Amino acid sequence: MSDIRYNALLDLAKGTSTNGAGKSNGLHKQRISEIFGENVFSLMVMKDYLSEGTYLRIIAAIKNNSKIEFETAENVAKGMKKWATDKGATHYTHWFQPLTGTTAEKHDAFYKPSLDIMMQGMENLTAAELVQREPDASSFPSGGLRNTAAARGYSVWDPSSPAFILETRNGITLYVPSIFISYTGESLDFKTPLLKSAEQLNQHATKVVRYFDSSVKNVVATLGWEQEYFIVDEALYNARPDLLLTGRTLFGAPTAKGQQLEDHYFGSIPERVQHYMQDFELEALSLGIPVLTRHNEVAPGQYECAPMFEELNVAIDHNLLLMDIMQRTAKKHGLRALFHEKPFAGVNGSGKHNNWSMATGAGKNLLSPGSEPSNNLQFLTFFINTIKAVDEHADLLRASIASAGNDHRLGANEAPPAIISVFTGSLLGQILETFVKDGPHKLEERREIIDLNIPKIPAITIDNTDRNRTSPFPFTGNKFEFRAVGSSANCSNSMTVLNAIVARQLQLFAQAVDARIAKGEDQEAAIVGVLQKYLKESGKRIFNGDGYSKEWEKEAVKRGLSNKKTTPEALVAFISPSTIEMFTALGVFNEAEIHARYEVFLEQYIKQVEIEAMVSAELAQTYILPGSHQYLTQQIQTLKGLQDIGLNKAADNSRAEVEELFTCMDDIKGISKELKAWITKAHHGKDSVEIAKAFATKVRPLMDQLREAADKLELIVDDAAWKLPKYRELLWLR
Ligand code: ADP
Ligand code: MG
Repeated sequence: MSDIRYNALLDLAKGTSTNGAGKSNGLHKQRISEIFGENVFSLMVMKDYLSEGTYLRIIAAIKNNSKIEFETAENVAKGMKKWATDKGATHYTHWFQPLTGTTAEKHDAFYKPSLDIMMQGMENLTAAELVQREPDASSFPSGGLRNTAAARGYSVWDPSSPAFILETRNGITLYVPSIFISYTGESLDFKTPLLKSAEQLNQHATKVVRYFDSSVKNVVATLGWEQEYFIVDEALYNARPDLLLTGRTLFGAPTAKGQQLEDHYFGSIPERVQHYMQDFELEALSLGIPVLTRHNEVAPGQYECAPMFEELNVAIDHNLLLMDIMQRTAKKHGLRALFHEKPFAGVNGSGKHNNWSMATGAGKNLLSPGSEPSNNLQFLTFFINTIKAVDEHADLLRASIASAGNDHRLGANEAPPAIISVFTGSLLGQILETFVKDGPHKLEERREIIDLNIPKIPAITIDNTDRNRTSPFPFTGNKFEFRAVGSSANCSNSMTVLNAIVARQLQLFAQAVDARIAKGEDQEAAIVGVLQKYLKESGKRIFNGDGYSKEWEKEAVKRGLSNKKTTPEALVAFISPSTIEMFTALGVFNEAEIHARYEVFLEQYIKQVEIEAMVSAELAQTYILPGSHQYLTQQIQTLKGLQDIGLNKAADNSRAEVEELFTCMDDIKGISKELKAWITKAHHGKDSVEIAKAFATKVRPLMDQLREAADKLELIVDDAAWKLPKYRELLWLR
């Protein structure tokens, strides 16, 4: 057998890659409540480390969304440093989210040597250091903003997400969540616009909720993400250059046993994987990430982790932090966590469902229908406005989840389609139909009780929405679930869009309602009237059927809904007039920022597909063909031998086999050549849009053809001569 693959399998069998000395050995008997948040500079900790005055000012700033004064920052810095160094931290860093999609950090020591040689240096953190740092912005993507502005970039402390301590093999460091902006104040990251969009949602949702309850002071967006991922053995991973360099397998014939038996979903979690989960969960819990749920997903080797929902900004920081912890912990266990949206062809891809809602500062969920949704005008107001926002800006929502990886997932194996529609469930669907005609109306809609009539099994109530896994944007009882978000994505991009379009929609709604009131209509009639109009306009967006079906694709065309299958097609919505109008009206982005972002996303797509294409061509040349060639030589010898001894019939069969093998190999050579030529030619496009389109329409299809020929070979060539670990090994061995 090929040495690379053989050694990897040997490692796995010997368990040399599986001896993860996890923290959870012994520790897992501890109560979660004892470790939860122990590495977070939380309000509880602040009480001990800040003076009473500073503590109260921080609470007030968080409550009233107001700025923190320099003097308060000075005191917080002192307390934070004391806490961090008490816990053994030697360094601190601003932690921010550049447009690369990962997080960035640059560590500085607390220790400052004294200029006076007679004096000892000491650990220190000043307010200036806490509030603002200057990492070199020139190495981060800016989409041209740096050319118009300057090369400088600043990271600035975000007090709304708590600082925390990370302990890695390299030491203990204090992390300060931060935004990242240019010299002229343009955002260079994902967090800045997210915070702006959340503030816009706060303002406009608060105005609307006050029609119903004048005591409400503010509204926050809430997010509960569900992170799907694959786990593979590290030795096998290292033997797959495609996984290593692109995060997905570029070749690989399907295994005889894939997910068709449906025996992996919710199955018992393999011991090695559960040990790994326990370890990363413990670290997550110590960082205040409320991870509660773990289970096997549908595909073999696929799993999910979900926390309890939190305020949106914190939830996103927690997701990014968790992805980092999951990757580091996997290595300790001789495993690798794959966040790619489609690491394996033919089985399910991975998403990151974003459960989103709005809640008042007092914690009341604005998307909770209560026991009588048809009568609940406040709920219907937020529900219908969200549907209207999604309808108005469906293409932008689609753009917000576009990536080279997600293109393989949307519309493929059990993933939501690229057509944006809203699932309401049949009961709410009915309520909306009645509402359009008659306004709020009492319906027979009490929750039904299912009495199973089995002694000792309690009766259960059924929810007033059913589930629909085939919708990209279903309403799931008391929140919307944006299921189309990719597993590797920073949720900020799609959540900024969702906050912003709903904020803008609520703003327009309030204007329309106020205008009617000014003309003498009473408030309730005005609200109902506007909502009825919205429902009529956006009814086409509601679809409660099977989103995976071909019929829906056809139906969607009839309804005039778009179905943008590739990233370059989808991204254009970022710079459409309606997007620019919406973002600039709210001040979430200015026009330069929008264009810059569009440029960055296009470039990212181009780079990713280009890397994949180059790895494809290289693997075909250096892995697939040599292994096949070895087998071809053997087969030719066999053929010659058969001819020599005059076994003509057998020789004919053998010749046919040699020919098939040879044809496949020849195909690969031909397609590779064309692929390499197109990697160069694609760059001749006049701008990044054309280049990206060439990669989508020329390069990707050639990669698919190459893969098809190679996967065919994999099923012909002697197993011992095949160099790349096979799907059955990657997916089933652990
Ligand atoms: P599913 O059944 O869809 O897999 P999970 O239980 O895995 O659901 O995840 C549902 C997620 O939705 C959890 O993270 C949960 O905390 C979150 N969630 C529940 N209520 C809200 C809400 N009001 N706002 C945001 N997220 C919520
Ligand atoms: Mg789930």
